[in-house]
Formats: sequence, C-alpha cells, structure tokens
Amino acid sequence: MAPAKGKARAVRLRTDVIATGRGEGAVIDSQHAFPARLVTMSDHLEHPDRHGDRRSDHHRGRMVAVVRPALRAARVALDVLLPPQCLACDALVSEPGTLCHACWDGSVFVSAPLCAACGTPFEFDHGPDALCGACVRDRPRIDRARAVFVYNDVSRNLATGLKYRDRTHAAPALGDWLARAGRELLGTADLIAPVPLHRARLWRRRFNQSALLAQAVARNAARAGTDSGAREPALRLDLLTRVRATPSQGGLNAAARRSNVRGAFSVTSRHQKAVAGARILLIDDVFTTGATLGTCAAALLDSGAAAVDALVLARVERPR
Ligand SMILES: [Zn+2]
Ligand SMILES: [Zn+2]
Repeated sequence: MAPAKGKARAVRLRTDVIATGRGEGAVIDSQHAFPARLVTMSDHLEHPDRHGDRRSDHHRGRMVAVVRPALRAARVALDVLLPPQCLACDALVSEPGTLCHACWDGSVFVSAPLCAACGTPFEFDHGPDALCGACVRDRPRIDRARAVFVYNDVSRNLATGLKYRDRTHAAPALGDWLARAGRELLGTADLIAPVPLHRARLWRRRFNQSALLAQAVARNAARAGTDSGAREPALRLDLLTRVRATPSQGGLNAAARRSNVRGAFSVTSRHQKAVAGARILLIDDVFTTGATLGTCAAALLDSGAAAVDALVLARVERPR
C-alpha cells in the first residue's frame, strides 16, 4: 500500500476514536485480541446519546436538537475530507461498508443449488439434500459448509485486507453478508466460534480476523433474533484453542494440509460442558481444502458436539 493511503487510513481510524470520546475504536482485548467495540463515525453520529451521560429527557431532547444537525454537518465534512473506501480496494465509494462498481462486477456470490454438505454450487438443482460426488464418497466432518463468495481477486482482497491490512472496519459489513449466506446454519446453531490463531501469531497480528467475523455474525444474529423473537446462538470466542503452532498452509496440497494441522486444536477446558450435545457454527475467512475447519470439527465432535457447521467469507472452488 502506498504510504499516502496508509496515512489516510490512520487519520480515519483516529477520527473514529475521537468520535467515541473514549478511544473505544482502538481498544484491543488482550485475551482474544479483537477490537472490543468497533464504533464507527456513522454509528456514533446516528446514536449520539448512546455514549452520552444521563441528563433529563427534556434536556437531552434540546441537546439532540442542537447537536444532531451539527453532527450531521460534521459527517458531511468528514466524508468530504475522508471519503469512504471500497472494502476490497482503494477506490472511493459513496457509502461506507460497501464495494465499488468494479469489485461488485468482479464478485462471484455462492448461490443455490448447492451440495447440502460442502456447499459446492451445482449447475442443476438436484433437490435440497443432494450431495456432490466427493461428499458421497467421503462425507466431511463439517456437516454443512456455506460461503459468501467464490474465492477470486475481489474476495481475496476482502480477506487479506481484514487479515493483514488492518481493515477491521470492514468486519460489520462482512458479518452481514456472512449472516445472509449462513441464515440456515444460524437458525440451528447453539454456539458460534471462530477458528483460533496460535498465541504467537495472534501476538504478531494483534487480532484474529476470524474472531472479528464471528463477532460480526453474532451481532447480526442478535439483531435478527430481537426482531423475530427467535433464539440466538451464543458467541464463544475462545471455544477452541490452537495448542500447536502450525506452518502456513500456503502451497500445500489437501493431504499435506491435513497432516499440518492434525491435533492443532482442542476445546478450551472450561467450555467442554457447553460443547457436549451442542450444534456449533465455526467461522473462518477462507475455505481452501477444509483441512483446518475439519480438524476443528474433529476436536469438537470428540468432545461430544452434536454437529459442526462452517460459515466462511470465501471458498476456493474444487481444490481437490
Ligand atoms: Zn473496489
Ligand atoms: Zn459436497
């Protein structure tokens, strides 16, 4: 990334921090290293009294009447100074939390008909329970896997932007997409959990991108649950622990990936009880061969989980 763009991002993050008045945008949870509360400028501008003190309703009403137009003007001024960027590239967009025209055009959303197990798109509809040939031969440990995008240049940029370029502000929008793609899975999940990073990698990267996505999905599910009265799954960011650091999976084939992550995950001891009999939804950024998610599922199933589903941002098409 060019230095000038990095500077623009730094300024944007700092304005978020100033807007909350308490620096919440910069708070990192030391245990799981995800921003404790991603408060955006627009979040604050739309709900200014959420962060305010407890004045009387009358006084608050007068304050809001005066402050709201001023905040709206401030937002307009900020959007002129720091126009929102596309979530996947550096192009400017009119609304925050969206893609530019070129990235929309380049995106391939995964859509039905799908294999009921691995979520591979079918050319023809074979019915809701149809499985692809690979899943018939060898049923994966993940009961149902679903993805928002087919992995390509745009979805790779979305995933790497979140992982390496500190585009953590993209998480809420990505969480909304994930919740839409995984509606069926969210409807039956008891627990939502991210694929964990090893402590050493977490220390270097400062946050776990999968935890950010899991958090965003859980927020979306909570909102949807409040609206419809449906039961909402519980978010457990530390449900799994990565007990062994593993070399990067990049460049390895499916068999090598499986042996690379074998035994790398275990269920955190204090969650053992909650896992027994539960239906668990794992969240990750990219599904390549399914080796990592499959190993996580094995650890959960060994601890008595009833079933494990997976929801990811992007899936690599037919790597095997
Ligand atoms: Zn773009
Ligand atoms: Zn399949």
